[in-house]
Amino acid sequence: VLWCCLTASAKAEYMKYKDPKQPVAVRIQDLLDRMTLEEKIGQMVQIDRRVASAEVMKKYFIGSVLSGGGSVPAPQASAEVWINMINDFQRGSLSTRLGIPMIYGIDAVHGNNNVYKATIFPHNIGLGATRDPELVKKIGAATALETRATGIPYTFAPCIAVCRDPRWGRCYESYSEDPQIVQAMTEIIPGLQGDIPASSPEGVPFVAGKKNVAACAKHYVGDGGTTNGIDEGNTVIDWHGLLSIHMPGYYPSIIKGVSTIMVSYSSWNGIKMHANRDLVTGFLKNTLRFRGFVISDWEGIDRITSPPHANYTYSIQAGIHAGIDMVMVPYNYNEFIDGLTFLVKNNFIPMSRIDDAVTRILRVKFVMGLFENPLADNSLVDQLGSQEHRELAREAVRRSLVLLKNGQSDHPPLLPLPKKTSKILVAGSHADNLGYQCGGWTIEWQGLSGNNLTIGTTILTAIKNTVDSSTDVVYEENPDTEFVKSSDFSYAIVVVGEHPYAEYDGDSMNLTIPDPGPSTITNVCGAVKCVVIIISGRPVVIQPYVDTIDALVAAWLPGTEGQGVADVLFGDYGFTGKLPRTWFKTVDQLPMNVGDPHYDPLFPFGFGLTTKPTKSYEEAIEVY
Ligand code: BGC
Repeated sequence: VLWCCLTASAKAEYMKYKDPKQPVAVRIQDLLDRMTLEEKIGQMVQIDRRVASAEVMKKYFIGSVLSGGGSVPAPQASAEVWINMINDFQRGSLSTRLGIPMIYGIDAVHGNNNVYKATIFPHNIGLGATRDPELVKKIGAATALETRATGIPYTFAPCIAVCRDPRWGRCYESYSEDPQIVQAMTEIIPGLQGDIPASSPEGVPFVAGKKNVAACAKHYVGDGGTTNGIDEGNTVIDWHGLLSIHMPGYYPSIIKGVSTIMVSYSSWNGIKMHANRDLVTGFLKNTLRFRGFVISDWEGIDRITSPPHANYTYSIQAGIHAGIDMVMVPYNYNEFIDGLTFLVKNNFIPMSRIDDAVTRILRVKFVMGLFENPLADNSLVDQLGSQEHRELAREAVRRSLVLLKNGQSDHPPLLPLPKKTSKILVAGSHADNLGYQCGGWTIEWQGLSGNNLTIGTTILTAIKNTVDSSTDVVYEENPDTEFVKSSDFSYAIVVVGEHPYAEYDGDSMNLTIPDPGPSTITNVCGAVKCVVIIISGRPVVIQPYVDTIDALVAAWLPGTEGQGVADVLFGDYGFTGKLPRTWFKTVDQLPMNVGDPHYDPLFPFGFGLTTKPTKSYEEAIEVY
């Protein structure tokens, strides 16, 4: 008797929300009913890992942690270091009264790009050039595996901005100036999250399981349409224009079950998106029936006022009232929690708004199985930078290259290049620089220079790997004309372009290739037949040099797999990429997009020459 009764009293209370057999809606309601205001507000807070700890998670019931920009636990941290850090935070969350798991997010925007050894895929502009949503879907699935490999279940991707002005420093995060291409590329969402079952109700978030991650379509809405391409600027356009240019990516994202949507720093016709209740609650939640959670951008509500954080209580009220569910605070969480608590207790924000926010956050957490599997293990560690993913990235690089010129009217095409010749020159600041090749959002927020940041193949190394062993490859970063003339090269490959940048630092009003890029082009191309490869996040000023160049290739920001460039240059594969954007002649033409009345580009949207793959005699013999 004693045994029976002791057991009975020790038996834990049955809690519906903990039972995976209960429908998600029932679990949410059961949990919500148990939560205090403090616990609810905690769910709405996302803090940066630099201020997170198990204690903080527990004390404030924090709902989410992020690595903002390049916020990594240690330089070149291994997957295990990431997993241990995240599990430590998670244990803090699980030790709370209700044990609600936190969700960890990161900007895995071209692969799991903050993490050493991860496969870095081409930035979105290059993927736009492939015109291949299925390829992009595969990249999403690979990115999900590499992100989960480090214990992270959530990425702030894809960016579905429609960049209308390349002066914007985030242009490379945009697949295209064309809304239809951006719309098609939302196929990355089922890649990241898994395919949503046909039976799933419209608008409900979906994440298939432990090999997938929650995605985030960003930045809602009009981020790519600001005047003069100014980052976080003002998008002046009427409703019809907003719907037809900047909105088309959102509806398919919602249909495909995107878990979260991030609000844009930018304004629409002078109103900050972070304070726009019509667009966030009215249109996104009510009209488009999005039922995942809306997340702010980093200190996004602070920036509702100018200067930022000038009137924080107002910002909190405006942002939450607009319909933001989770706030990327990311540091001063005490001030945010106090402010929101004050607003709710004094009825300036109704409890129904808080419940809506928490319901949405819990829905994502339940749907993706975080309650059942809150802790990460190391079972996917081998996925990080795997051979299979590198092959996929290499394929994406090959497909992303756009051939803009190949030969002059009186000269035959130069590409594809022969693998066997006596001596070739490789020149330019970007030929042997992995950091430049990867661009911004790689290990560091603004990107890095050099070859030690992570593991990958530079274009120079790729060329050496590809040519015949008898071909002499001479590398000279910035040779003068005399050197080139006197050295008897068969031809030269010049690789120049932009230095890495991201948001904030990346806006450029002149879009020139930094020095000594232009002189490298003129010195080399004036003296020998040359291919120029541009590494850049957007079209740059090239018109003054075009006539001296024999062949011109836009390679965008290809990432770690530089071998893909050599694969196409030397004809193992053909050029197939098409311009995802208009290539302007001069910056004073900007903004200039396909369909504009005075469209007068250097290379039009959709342009791209092709080459056929060649097999050398020896290789052909081998095949037979
Ligand atoms: C960017 C977002 C990013 C966030 C977190 C912000 O500055 O605008 O795109 O997801 O930082 O790193």
